[in-house]
Amino acid sequence: MKYKIKIVLLLLLILMVLFMRNISNYSNTSSNIIYVIKDEYTRLGYTQYDLDMLESFLDENQMKEIIKLNIPRNILFSYHKQKSFEFDKIMLYEDVRTNKKVTFKEAINLVNHPYLMSDFYESIRSAINLNTELILVNKNYYLKKDYIPENLILGDDLHPLIPNDKSRNYLQKEAYNALKALFIEAENNNIILYFSNGYRTYEKQDKIYSEYLSQSHNADVYSARPGHSEHQTGLAVDITCQSVNYLLTENFEKTAAGKFIKENAHHFGFIERYPKNKEYITGYTYEPWHLRYVGKKAASIIYLSNITLEEYLIKYTNMPN
Ligand SMILES: [Zn+2]
Repeated sequence: MKYKIKIVLLLLLILMVLFMRNISNYSNTSSNIIYVIKDEYTRLGYTQYDLDMLESFLDENQMKEIIKLNIPRNILFSYHKQKSFEFDKIMLYEDVRTNKKVTFKEAINLVNHPYLMSDFYESIRSAINLNTELILVNKNYYLKKDYIPENLILGDDLHPLIPNDKSRNYLQKEAYNALKALFIEAENNNIILYFSNGYRTYEKQDKIYSEYLSQSHNADVYSARPGHSEHQTGLAVDITCQSVNYLLTENFEKTAAGKFIKENAHHFGFIERYPKNKEYITGYTYEPWHLRYVGKKAASIIYLSNITLEEYLIKYTNMPN
């Protein structure tokens, strides 16, 4: 009996020793790994504080990716400041940023919106910034059939070409107020502006586009496809004057009214939406009569930097993914 107990005790002892050795081996290797990895993070510029912070929004694999991909602290943190940053796209951003020599913000926007200014009607997706003054509708960004802007106001006091025409005289409230102020300022300078088109429904655009299509092979040059017209936002307006017979024509730029618009519209939050020599970006030939309300801040930057709305969104905003 005693002999058996001794044997069992001895076996237990051996087991315990083996177990302890295993534990100490395991923790040795593990701390070695942590030590080596930490060294790698330090080499890339990260402090312990940074790592604790990063662990709160990156998973284990992503933490390892920082080292695998060799991402320096200043690069990761410059991206992290941007609202639409996604860690898994970081190498795509870096490719764009270094090849195109753009900022971190622009790189993220360009990765998320590769067809903002190209491949017209080839890579379409839903409009962005809905219900804001920076809503983007163009040949690739479309509004659904049932999208109707909020706060539409009838602009019948803005010298409409066709008074009481509810299918063309509506505007969103902000655009209406701004246009009214612009018209008053013009009048103070002895210039009478006329309001030709404002909000247009999807159905009406569909009709207009179909008419162009039946008459010309180049319908896309002159008219937007339904859902792709900025007039559906209620923030776009066509302006004309008496000396061009109230037409929407490029000659408008040569008139006193056209010149006044070009120099002053931005003070009221409007931009020339389809400027000269920017067809490759907007997809439209020069339209000096077509203004778009974007608010005073954006309008001033766009005017002073001679850029389009598309370029403004890429350079100065956090575009949604
Ligand atoms: Zn227009």
